[in-house]
Amino acid sequence: MKQSLLVTKTRKVISSQETSINAQLLERAGYIAKLMAGVYTYLPLGLRVLSRIESIVREAMNSLEAQEILMPALQPKDPWEVTGRWDKVDILYKIKVGDRDLCLGPTHEEIVTPLIGGYIHSYKDLPRAVYQIQTKFRNEARPKSGLLRGREFRMKDLYSFHTSEADLHEYYEKVREVYMTIFKRCGLGDITYYTYASGGMFTKYSHEFQTVAPLGEDTIFVCESCLIAVNQEIRADQPVCPNCSSSELVERTSIEVGNIFALLSRFTEPFNVEYSNQENTQQSVLMGCYGLGTSRLMGAIVEVLHDEKGIVWPVEIAPFSIHLISLSRKPETQIRAQELYDLLVNGGFEVLFDERIDCSAGEKFADADLMGIPFRLVFSEKTAAVDSVEFKGRTQSESSLIILSSLVEFLRNQIVAQK
Ligand SMILES: [Zn+2]
Repeated sequence: MKQSLLVTKTRKVISSQETSINAQLLERAGYIAKLMAGVYTYLPLGLRVLSRIESIVREAMNSLEAQEILMPALQPKDPWEVTGRWDKVDILYKIKVGDRDLCLGPTHEEIVTPLIGGYIHSYKDLPRAVYQIQTKFRNEARPKSGLLRGREFRMKDLYSFHTSEADLHEYYEKVREVYMTIFKRCGLGDITYYTYASGGMFTKYSHEFQTVAPLGEDTIFVCESCLIAVNQEIRADQPVCPNCSSSELVERTSIEVGNIFALLSRFTEPFNVEYSNQENTQQSVLMGCYGLGTSRLMGAIVEVLHDEKGIVWPVEIAPFSIHLISLSRKPETQIRAQELYDLLVNGGFEVLFDERIDCSAGEKFADADLMGIPFRLVFSEKTAAVDSVEFKGRTQSESSLIILSSLVEFLRNQIVAQK
C-alpha cells in the first residue's frame, strides 16, 4: 500500500484525556480513532492488526476441533432471567424498546447453552465445542485504558460441552496449551502467566492468562521458572507455586489477556440441558467457557511492546511486515523505488511504501518508528548508485546495506527468524 493514499496520518499529539500508552500510541500512529470513552473505530492499519490477531485465534480454536458460529449481540431478557443474571450483572447494557426489554451481550452463556442444548440428546452427541469472534458490550464505569477496557470490544468466546468432569478437565488443559501458543505468536510468550484465579465456587477451575506489564491494572505473584502465577485474591490461600511449590513468588503488575472457567452445570441446569447416558439415565451436560478479548490483546501488546519512539509490532501481527521508504528526489530513482516495491509485493511481502515526496527523511523515519512495522528499507540516490537498499529492524540501532539481487531471500530469512 502506498502511504500517500492511506486515509490516516500520524499525529504528534492527541487528546490529553487518553492517558494509557496503548491509546496514545495507537491513536497517534493512526491505528484507531476514539468515538467516545471506551469506544473506538479501527482504521485501516488497526483493522489489519486486529484481523491478524483474530486469524491466529481462529486457527488455534480450529485446532481444538471447535466450530465457529456467530451469535446475535442483541439479546432478549428471558434467558438472563432463567440464570438470574438480569439484575446481577451490573455491566449489562439494557435497552427498553416499547415495553420490551433487551440487552447487548457482554457474554453468551445465556444464548449458547439452550442453543447447543437443543442439539444434544445422548452421550453420543458429546463432547462438542463452539466459538465465536464478535463485538461485545460492557457498561464500564471508567473506561480509561484505551483498548484494555472498552465499552464495545472484540472478543473470542469458546464454549465446550461434556459428559464428565474428567472429559471437561482434559479439554480445559488442551485449551490452556493452545492459549499459550496464541500469546507466543503475539509476542507475549515469555511474559504471559497461567494464573490461578479466585473464581468463587469455581476456584478449582478458574484461571486467567496474565501478561506482565509495568502499568497493568492487576497484581499477580509469579513463579518465573514455571510461567505460573497466583492472583492477588488467592495469594493467602496459595502462598507457593502450584506447580513446583517454590515460595519464591515475585510480585508483578499485569494485564489479563484471557480467562477460562469450568462452569460445570451452572448454566446447563437452569436451561435443563441434559443427555441420556449409556444406561439411559438423564444427566446434566457439563460445560466450560473460555474467553479471550482480541481487541484487549491488541492493547496489551502495545502496552508491552513499544519504546520511546513508538510501537514495536511482532512480525506475525504487524499491519505490514516491511516499511519501504523512498528518499529519492530524482524521477529515475523514484521509478526504481516503485520497481523495488513491485518486486517485493510480487515476492509475496506485505509492504507499506512511503513514496511521499512532500516529507523530509526525518519525518518519514519518525513515522516509521511510531507505526512500528518490523523491517524498514530505505531506498535513496545513494543506495541506488550501488544497487542496494538500507535495511534496519525496528529495534536495531544500525542499518545495513543489502544488495538488491539478494534482498528477497534476505527478507524471507529475516521474517522466518522472527516468527
Ligand atoms: Zn513454579
